[in-house]
Amino acid sequence: GNTARTQAVHQIANREAMPPKAPERLEDIWAQNVFNLNKMQASLPKTVFKSIEKTITNGEKLDPSIADAVANAMKDWAISKGALYYAHVFYPMTNQTAEKHDGFISVQKNGNVISEFSGKLLVQGEPDGSSFPNGGIRGTFEARGYTAWDVTSPAYIMETDNGATLCIPTVFVSWTGEALDKKVPLLRSIAAMDKSASKVLKLLGHEDVARVNSSCGSEQEYFLVDANFATQRPDLLLAGRTLFGKAPAKGQEFDDHYFGAIPHRVQVFMQDVEEKLYKLGIPAKTRHNEVAPGQFEIAPFFEAANVASDHQQLTMTVLKHTAKKHGFVCLLHEKPFAGINGSGKHVNWSVGNSTQGNLLDPGDSPHENAQFLVFCGAVIRGVHKYGPLMRAAIATASNDHRLGANEAPPAIMSVYLGTQLEEVFEQIKAGTVSDSKKKGVMDIGVDVLPPLSKDAGDRNRTSPFAFTGNRFEFRAVGSHQSVSGPLIVLNTMLADSLDWIGNRLESELSNGVELNGAIVTVLKEVMEEHGAVIFGGNGYSEEWHKMAVEERGLANLPTTADALPCLKEEYIEDLFKKTGVLTPVELESRFEVYAEQYILSIEVEAKLVVSMAKTLIYPAAVEYLSTLSSTIASLTDLGIDLDKESAKKVADLTNSMLAAIGKLSAAIEKHDFASTREHMEYCAQTIRPLMDESREYVDALEGEIADCFWPLPTYQEMLFVK
Ligand code: ADP
Ligand code: MG
Repeated sequence: GNTARTQAVHQIANREAMPPKAPERLEDIWAQNVFNLNKMQASLPKTVFKSIEKTITNGEKLDPSIADAVANAMKDWAISKGALYYAHVFYPMTNQTAEKHDGFISVQKNGNVISEFSGKLLVQGEPDGSSFPNGGIRGTFEARGYTAWDVTSPAYIMETDNGATLCIPTVFVSWTGEALDKKVPLLRSIAAMDKSASKVLKLLGHEDVARVNSSCGSEQEYFLVDANFATQRPDLLLAGRTLFGKAPAKGQEFDDHYFGAIPHRVQVFMQDVEEKLYKLGIPAKTRHNEVAPGQFEIAPFFEAANVASDHQQLTMTVLKHTAKKHGFVCLLHEKPFAGINGSGKHVNWSVGNSTQGNLLDPGDSPHENAQFLVFCGAVIRGVHKYGPLMRAAIATASNDHRLGANEAPPAIMSVYLGTQLEEVFEQIKAGTVSDSKKKGVMDIGVDVLPPLSKDAGDRNRTSPFAFTGNRFEFRAVGSHQSVSGPLIVLNTMLADSLDWIGNRLESELSNGVELNGAIVTVLKEVMEEHGAVIFGGNGYSEEWHKMAVEERGLANLPTTADALPCLKEEYIEDLFKKTGVLTPVELESRFEVYAEQYILSIEVEAKLVVSMAKTLIYPAAVEYLSTLSSTIASLTDLGIDLDKESAKKVADLTNSMLAAIGKLSAAIEKHDFASTREHMEYCAQTIRPLMDESREYVDALEGEIADCFWPLPTYQEMLFVK
């Protein structure tokens, strides 16, 4: 029998509860581990503080003459918190967070040591970048990459059980200045969006226009599995998802988990996570059970995109670390369990500034309404024009399991506006909204928009990109992804659309058309060209999949192999080039890196399917068959007949499984491909189906073999035992 599994269950059942901890006051712990403006003000000379404050608000470069003073204050603060090391933290193209640690230690001539941290070390680091994917930007012989502090994102202390590290969020560039990370393009996309948005705001009559930034609040879904089970599953350890596993008798069909009472042990875990996040200045705000058993969600209050993105990375790190401490493994994979809802990350996104506020908020005056419609129109144009790029931004081997299944938005990009707003745009298109006051006709810039009721309904849930009252929610993003990629795309396409709208408005105005008329004309054009992307129906339905492609001409890109090649299209290259967000070389490198990651993750999983089937499942089947067959033989000797069918069935399934993994092993051996694209397609169309085929037999075996012989913790155990 399988003792490891039984032991795991015993260990969980007899688990001692985490010792209770006195709750701390939010005000006492808030941003305790962040070197924020308050702490700078307390520790820096006034002139230095003023200078850095200005740098931060305007997103400028740090004045080198004050770097030493800032570094010194930061070091003293970090040492007072127990740090001996500092780390430049950066965000390579892998969705991970990377860090290089260095000691403050400096050895003197006399052999004594002192702590040292100069402005130069704060501002610039030199990690050996050779082992980070760069998509061919640098050969390893010129492996030098530079990290530089992103002053707009504050330094913080990462605590571990026996120490602390000062962490400095940085950009990561090659020695020739090319972006090797996700932060540089994000900052550039914000700058591009700011430029176009400011231009439009000025055309709309604003004189005082502050820097426009984008905001992001992301909802993170995740699974918790007891570590006693997870460590017995090679697939969870190496691939982050189960490659085999028969559906349990009970899944999520009772809908009894969603928003149900949070299991006690999980709530203790969540509170621990939240306390750590508060200390890091991350405004965690909501927590709840998700749809699937064992699935949960955490969401913060929204922040400026660039800080929100760093904080999101930190949140994923904190979730994983804290889970370990509580005897869980936190799974951020998009589809850890087949047949049960997967995890996404809803990226709530808006743009705004301190002078005009949230530009995606309809507001309540005619002027604000008109402005809102302009920005909303820009988004509609962007999604229509660059839908495939949005799809590419969320394309990973793991997210492909989710998109297009009936639990997550489809792999077709469309916009959900809600009934009322959709109607307004339809009227603009039909010409029944105008600048001339006819009876019963809405006059843009003069009349007030009908109040938009917030659709809390199910419909927007099936949309990949939904307007939710004062922001858009990109719902198709994967749970393990960095939010930077999606934010870069949203900001960049908005920059492009606003630029186009700005130019069109300008030309209308210079022809003597007054502002409201110009707005109506331009929005009508947007709707005529791009209105096909608006869809308020059920995004999961077959009819939509058909209609979207056949009638509306929208792209359905079900796999990463279909989606990523769009990065090679000329109009995408132009978009990034003209907005200054990515050079053609940088864009090309992203295609190469993401494609390689897709291929590698499928290859790793395929190898794992083969090895688990051979070394875990096959031996279990044989052991069971041996017991069964000797029992049948002994009984026959005694003149008793035991049905032989079940032995035959196990033997047949085992043979079919061996045949399937034989085909899969052979398929993995193919290495000659004409292009990366062909290799990706091979993974999607040949390797994946063979993995599915192998799985079918393994899962069927799980239903036939005596439970005590089964080597892997079951879905039932992993999802329901807490
Ligand atoms: P729901 O589950 O209804 O979508 P949540 O409250 O779980 O709502 O999450 C909504 C997220 O959207 C939160 O992170 C919230 O802070 C964020 N958000 C709210 N307003 C904005 C905005 N204007 N811009 C960006 N994000 C926003
Ligand atoms: Mg949401």
